[in-house]
Amino acid sequence: MASVKPTSSIQDYQKFVQEVYGLSNSRYFSLQDMLTNIERFVTRAMKGIRKGDKEKIKLNMMIAMSWFISMMNQLHIDIEEEVWKRFPYKCSYCAHCPCACKAKKIQTRQKATIDNKKRPKTMAQFQEMFNEIYPATTRTLDHAGVHLAEEMGEIAEAILVYRGSHLNESFKDVVLECADFVSCSMGVCNSLGINLAKEIAKEFPDNCHVCHKAPCECTFTDIVQFKS
Ligand SMILES: [Zn+2]
Ligand SMILES: [Zn+2]
Repeated sequence: MASVKPTSSIQDYQKFVQEVYGLSNSRYFSLQDMLTNIERFVTRAMKGIRKGDKEKIKLNMMIAMSWFISMMNQLHIDIEEEVWKRFPYKCSYCAHCPCACKAKKIQTRQKATIDNKKRPKTMAQFQEMFNEIYPATTRTLDHAGVHLAEEMGEIAEAILVYRGSHLNESFKDVVLECADFVSCSMGVCNSLGINLAKEIAKEFPDNCHVCHKAPCECTFTDIVQFKS
């Protein structure tokens, strides 16, 4: 039985998603469809923020994250590795922890050195790392949500460019935007006061969270009409 544990790494989670959803993702969904599915659930989470509905935000963030990881599998991106390269316990822009972009009025991207000894091992540790770089106490949940929506748009734009050009340079932008998406998703979870790994582990204790099979046997209609 495939499952996610509260101590799973992001790479473990990516493998889990491949085992459970790899087959139906390949058969049913193009890259563009995959992006639409991430957008569906990110925007539902935004609705949860607008309505102050914590459960709605939580569930939709988890499902958005699962679709996002499915897209990482489709594109063969090792997202844990990419997140670490972009955020090596430092802000991706000012290279400080906590981020000092505003305080130091940083105008150009600073080069960060990477100390692999500090690399978080589990998904939960990555979330803690993001709370140290970008403390939830310095922003509101609304602000974190708006930032995530912004990143969603940036991924869409990078994918649009890549689908047109099919150039490695454009693909690198997709990868960077995807790392930023993880940062902002964990930012929303930090602002909400939830442990994303723990919540995903609760939702996915045995295979697909709806049909409980691996590979998932939900029909195309079940998937596209899933309400949360
Ligand atoms: Zn910064
Ligand atoms: Zn299923």
